Amino acid sequence: MHLKSYKTAIALGGNIGDTTAYFKFACDALSSGGLDSIVISSEYHTKPVDCPPGSADFVNAALTGVWHKSPEELLELCQKIEIDAGRPVVRGVNVPRTLDLDIIIFDDLKIDLPQLRVPHPRFHQRAFVLEPLAEIAPDWNVPGFQLTVAQLLKKL
Ligand code: ADP
Ligand code: MG
Repeated sequence: MHLKSYKTAIALGGNIGDTTAYFKFACDALSSGGLDSIVISSEYHTKPVDCPPGSADFVNAALTGVWHKSPEELLELCQKIEIDAGRPVVRGVNVPRTLDLDIIIFDDLKIDLPQLRVPHPRFHQRAFVLEPLAEIAPDWNVPGFQLTVAQLLKKL
């Protein structure tokens, strides 16, 4: 049977607890959940953006992998992993979090569902997403922009 393969990029972030350990947990859980060929960037320490006053600094990273099911199934897996990492299901906007997993790129698709927008709507303005992603996937095309990740980072 031919397995479909989609190249995907996921942004990781967190500002509570041992973020390095949460990122390791996320990679292992994504891999067990079916994400193949995972490559993760180094960690970037960043100042909070659009967060409540006094929020702790963030650790950010990005990873790429190969997924074989639908984008919605990848989102479901990411959300399950966030909750398994201790993130409350019900929460305020931009509150501190142990682990945030956002799907940034999913193959060459543009997705506009209520629960899933890809490419992630704000990532092209966010150095804390673009910088780690440019480390591991500088030449990836960003659907809808006709620019690569590296070119988007340069434009910031
Ligand atoms: P944020 O990542 O903006 O800090 P959350 O992680 O709390 O906020 O996500 C809020 C909602 O964003 C989720 O319920 C999810 O359905 C939605 N969402 C939309 N597009 C995406 C995407 N590309 N990746 C992850 N979540 C997304
Ligand atoms: Mg998120």
